[in-house]
Amino acid sequence: MQKNTVFILSGPAWAGKNTIWNLIRPLCSDYIEESTSTTTRTPIREWEIHWVDYYFVSKNEFEQKIHKGEFLEYAVVHTFYYGSTKDELARITSLGKCPIYIIEPQGMTHLKPLLEDAGYRVVTIFLLPPSIDEMKKRLHNRWTETPEQFEIRLATAMTELEQQDFYDIKIVNDDIEKAKEELLIVLDKNNALRK
Ligand code: 5GP
Repeated sequence: MQKNTVFILSGPAWAGKNTIWNLIRPLCSDYIEESTSTTTRTPIREWEIHWVDYYFVSKNEFEQKIHKGEFLEYAVVHTFYYGSTKDELARITSLGKCPIYIIEPQGMTHLKPLLEDAGYRVVTIFLLPPSIDEMKKRLHNRWTETPEQFEIRLATAMTELEQQDFYDIKIVNDDIEKAKEELLIVLDKNNALRK
């Protein structure tokens, strides 16, 4: 059966989007699948695998994909391109699963109306860090790039926080298990955890 619910999960860097999704993914892999984004950023985290975490491409390749109309949406985030392709949506829905997009707010703003016009039900979720101070602390502790990139990412995170009211649901990640359970409840209430 083709499912028509799509989830979009956003939140500033270090709110814990990927950590929470990595906890939930094994519990719902028969029903929900993340749309793998394409990016011009290079792999910066030791676990990142091409074709799994991202499709890592050159700027030239990305721009060719834009010209060919391969993206549903794309954005420039802290100097790199990030985009969600039409192919990924087709791949996931053809498996009878609900796609989840883990993308930033510009992407949500473009993607939501586009998917709704195509007949999908779109549920948007914003994950918040417990406080701005805690977000900065996590940022310092986990920093892997240059000080310039750090400042750019912090500024992006602050701008992203301003977008939280445009989402259907907000979850505060003050406790990882609690936030995980809250997200699972949202997925379940939207009938995504069953065939
Ligand atoms: P990171 O470099 O930390 O992996 O990702 C930076 C930001 O880009 C994160 O907020 C992430 O959710 C977002 N992002 C990842 N993929 C996409 C995408 O396909 N489109 C958009 N608009 N944002 C994305």
